[in-house]
Amino acid sequence: MDAATSPVRVERHGPVGVVVIDHAPVNALSKGVRQGLRDAVGALGADPGVSAIVLSGGPGRFIAGADIREMSLPPDDPLLPDVIAAIDALDKPVVAAIDGAALGGGCEVALACDLRIASPKALVGLTETRLGIIPGAGGTQRIARLVGIADAIALVCEGRILKAQDALGLGLLDEVVDGDLIAVAVARAPQAAKRRLSERAVPEGDAAREEAAAAAALKGAKGLPAIAEAVRVVRAARGTAFAAGLADERATFLALRESLEAKALRHLFFAEREAGKVPGLEGAAARVLKQAAVIGAGTMGAGIAVALADAGLPVTLVERDAAAAEAGLARVRGLYERPVKSGRLSQAEADKRLAAITATSDWQALADADLVVEAAFEDMAVKADIFGRLDAVAKPGAVLASNTSYLDLDAIAAATSRPQDVVGLHFFAPANVMKLLEVVRGKATAPDVLATALALAKRMGKQPVVAGNCDGFIGNRIYAVYRRHAEYMVEDGATPEEVDAALEAYGFAMGVFAVSDMSGLDIGHAMRKRRAATRDPAERYVVIADALVEAGRLGRKTGAGWYAYDAAGGKSADPAVAEAVAAARRAAGIAPRAFTAGQIQRRLLAVMANEGAKALGEGIALRASDIDLAFVNGYGFPRLKGGPMFAADEMGLAAVLAEMEAAHAAGGAGSEPAPLLVELARSGGRFATWTR
Ligand code: NAD
Repeated sequence: MDAATSPVRVERHGPVGVVVIDHAPVNALSKGVRQGLRDAVGALGADPGVSAIVLSGGPGRFIAGADIREMSLPPDDPLLPDVIAAIDALDKPVVAAIDGAALGGGCEVALACDLRIASPKALVGLTETRLGIIPGAGGTQRIARLVGIADAIALVCEGRILKAQDALGLGLLDEVVDGDLIAVAVARAPQAAKRRLSERAVPEGDAAREEAAAAAALKGAKGLPAIAEAVRVVRAARGTAFAAGLADERATFLALRESLEAKALRHLFFAEREAGKVPGLEGAAARVLKQAAVIGAGTMGAGIAVALADAGLPVTLVERDAAAAEAGLARVRGLYERPVKSGRLSQAEADKRLAAITATSDWQALADADLVVEAAFEDMAVKADIFGRLDAVAKPGAVLASNTSYLDLDAIAAATSRPQDVVGLHFFAPANVMKLLEVVRGKATAPDVLATALALAKRMGKQPVVAGNCDGFIGNRIYAVYRRHAEYMVEDGATPEEVDAALEAYGFAMGVFAVSDMSGLDIGHAMRKRRAATRDPAERYVVIADALVEAGRLGRKTGAGWYAYDAAGGKSADPAVAEAVAAARRAAGIAPRAFTAGQIQRRLLAVMANEGAKALGEGIALRASDIDLAFVNGYGFPRLKGGPMFAADEMGLAAVLAEMEAAHAAGGAGSEPAPLLVELARSGGRFATWTR
């Protein structure tokens, strides 16, 4: 690469050479940047007219980290450790001038400098464990020498991103300057002493603190192998020569890079960036939202109001009568209690947000809203009535959204004279906490309304996934099949506890039956009743859940569901459930057989991926990675497995198809292998690379 095309240039400020990295958008350490850095450092090191060097990422930046796309490819020269070794070897003082993100490999570059000066905008951290790896270019060895073992373990294992002042406090930065960062760095550089961390000993530490840091990190590891490795490699810095520690770190980094967990986390990293790209939205500008309203202040409505207020929008809750409005407001207050108690939110801030939420039964209050989210009962007649009345009061251009879980968005839109303004905003409970926002695009939804929904998701810190209109959209559609097959296995011989244990062993926070108990068995019951008229008689139907509901077992809220609950909320297997299961087996003439955890896991993964393949084939989901995002962010699917479509790709689609054929035999109509799965299994394809 010649100087004209290199993303790295050199400026001279008298005797100081300033290396400027200019590689939009974030100065990722691509091959070109590494080459440019190496060449610039080499040239300035050899230039007798240069007495000191400043490394800069230009205004608002430093180096945000590795180029994550390259992480799935074989390492390519020049390697980052070699570039950093070249910086470390310089006899001239080197100053890092950090005006933005110095994360991951960018932080490792900064740690190899003699002085780290930053603006208040700087963000510093060794964030590699967030991607399932550890620093691979000296980060663990230098940070341990800089801040000691205990803090180094915490920083690396949490992948903590420090603001400038915090980084200064911990010693990661030497100075935070308000004014002209480059001018200060250039002024300091010639006088700076050489202070190579590579030549320093690890500071003596408090053994108990180090032990506690390691224990806390391992406890928070949640199955991520990088954490134990990070703890080991950081601890090894004491008593190990720098070069040996570096070699150990690099070998560990290279091995972890290939791990399934790291691949899954990289997959999700890209999935998040892809999810906002929606065909047909080019040039559509989001509408301006200044005032929001929510219709229905129940479980969801209250949570949605909090999510909106947290994003800085004033919210009016509209309920059926004054008492319901007051109850809704009380629910909202309750939602702010927990973050205040835990210290995540100050009382003053909570009060400010609470003041932005009002409740009323007066529909005229909806006239001012730029966005209305309906979260009333899951009943088409109720929703059609609400949208009809809303049409009469809402101002022109207001975005009219429904939080429906399953209902036909186009039918809801048809109750208005402006179906182009109607969109689904499917929040997940608790709506102020859960990251997923399923954005449902109706057949008439205008591009700028969809763009508004995506912008709102971002404003609320949520992960949007765009879905087409069908029963259950992406998430609940797939979840319904998953739950059905869990029940088939129970009727065929597994216990609910075995199914849940298998799912938890796979990495789900909670098994499917424990989740049903938490949300309430009445929800599924109502859904099955609604579908009864249209259900294919060839679809296998398990009556156990209905029997539980009819016995008054609605889950946690009634103290019993698939499990029995004690006063403290502890759950246990319940003989009454075993009896309901046995009765169902007898009635269906089934001789129970045993299931291993592996069989349960494979079956449920196959049915999720299969239904996902149907949603993809029908265009309900835009891409497989959107389905993965939905399940990871909304349904407790383990992040380290990358989502059901990614996990199916890893299992191999021929094996998934074979499993699905068995699932079809068990489930009957509705469980047919998806045409797309059959096609990809035959051609050796993958969901990840399939395009329409
Ligand atoms: P909920 O019963 O807790 O709350 C519904 C509220 O709507 C009640 O307070 C009720 O008084 C009010 N309401 C009903 N009709 C109204 C009307 N005409 N005008 C004003 N207010 C009215 O129900 P929920 O669990 O909050 O669910 C609400 C919606 O969100 C449903 O469509 C549901 O499918 C969906 N949803 C629920 C969940 C969940 O986990 N609970 C998750 C995602 C989506």
